Amino acid sequence: MPHEALSIFDMFKIGVGPSSSHTLGPWKAALRCLSSIEAQLENLVQVQVVLYGSLAKTGLGHGTDIALLMGLSGADPETIPISSIQPTIETINTNKQIAIAGKWVIPFHAETDIIFLMGETLPYHPNGLSFLLHYKDGSQKADTYYSIGGGFVVKEGETTMEKAVQLPHPINTALDVKTWCQLYGLSIHDIVIRNEQAWRDTAAIKHGVLHLWHIMAECIYNGCHAEGILPGGLNVKRRAYDMNKSLLPTAVYSNYTEWKAAIKAGGNSFSYILNWINCFALAVNEQNASFGRVVTAPTNGAAGVIPAVLQYFIIFCDGDSEEAILKFLLTASEIGCLFKKGATISAAMGGCQAEIGVSSAMAASALAESLGGTPEQALMAAEIAMEHHLGLTCDPIGGLVQIPCIERNSMGAVKAITAAQLALQGNPHHAKVSLDHVIKTMWETALDMNSKYKETADGGLALQIPLGLSEC
Ligand code: SF4
Repeated sequence: MPHEALSIFDMFKIGVGPSSSHTLGPWKAALRCLSSIEAQLENLVQVQVVLYGSLAKTGLGHGTDIALLMGLSGADPETIPISSIQPTIETINTNKQIAIAGKWVIPFHAETDIIFLMGETLPYHPNGLSFLLHYKDGSQKADTYYSIGGGFVVKEGETTMEKAVQLPHPINTALDVKTWCQLYGLSIHDIVIRNEQAWRDTAAIKHGVLHLWHIMAECIYNGCHAEGILPGGLNVKRRAYDMNKSLLPTAVYSNYTEWKAAIKAGGNSFSYILNWINCFALAVNEQNASFGRVVTAPTNGAAGVIPAVLQYFIIFCDGDSEEAILKFLLTASEIGCLFKKGATISAAMGGCQAEIGVSSAMAASALAESLGGTPEQALMAAEIAMEHHLGLTCDPIGGLVQIPCIERNSMGAVKAITAAQLALQGNPHHAKVSLDHVIKTMWETALDMNSKYKETADGGLALQIPLGLSEC
């Protein structure tokens, strides 16, 4: 059976909020388009972008237009200073010009050169976009891409299967994971690191993964210390700032490390810990909603679940070591890969079960293994977490990644911890439902789900509370 070789750095990607499929994906598609025509860039006279399906319907709320302008400008979403995004967009819109790849200046009118085809969806995936390239000699070319969730992008005609890298432990299913672990007497994170070594050495893996955690932790910290109203017109007030203040009313600290110590010193009552888990998750997704720097985990909309659970593990479960963080994220990534291969991590394909549900399963499994669980218990934890997200719809109000998205990350984090504890107290041999069963069920549920619940803002809460009528 062919397998898709996915690295932890495919699952966890550093980027910019608010959406991995509607912001990061189109941004990367624009960069790929430019790089595919590098030799002809100087001959471009006009670029137009056509957005289809879900990208057209919720693209404005998800910042797709901004992402496209940044991508066409040649900016790297991983490293671009967040503070430079707004001025770049203002300059393009004021001058009605864009410097393609940062060099070739051509006219660009965002209101007419970005076309939102609300009524049309391309057959391969609901998140399709085409770049229409016009050259000096009058010739034209269309280049079509699909943003398939989690910042993954494929070009028309391309397949995601059978990448060149051959892994020592090929994995398609949870059963494969279990088999490799049993065969070698290893944990899930051991198998993942062996596979990861097909791309890079152990030092590079460790450095890269700890950098991911650094970005996640910075996002939590920044989110807990940013007050105000989120952008987009829904007037949603940030909550992590007030929660942080009320949980640490007298603490004095000036950086992340001191803040972490202050939280730990505050006690370990159930409500105190629960409030912090909620706060960590809210903080990340408030940053995400305000075009902040986040890590897809596995998506931007669900970017708060894994950091919240890992931060909980670090502070309240004595998980504060580089080795423990590395293992946690390695295990989480493998669970995300299983869902990507066997179902989807795209809300436009499967609703919110594909985002929050998957992130919760990833976090549950990583926590269970980090707390001493066997690989079977870790897989069981992922199964339990997803089982109780099945059918979760995506109906963001105003097409913004704010309501229900931000709170939903808190819910996903808490469910992940519950699932991990249930698995740790349980016996996987008695489980009636395996992780592979629940992945298959999630995919079948995704296929049955009405498109109005798949990141289109055509149903659910999005209809109850139209943007502009909100009293938030
Ligand atoms: S409802 Fe869920 S899937 Fe939809 S945008 Fe929000 S977080 Fe993403």
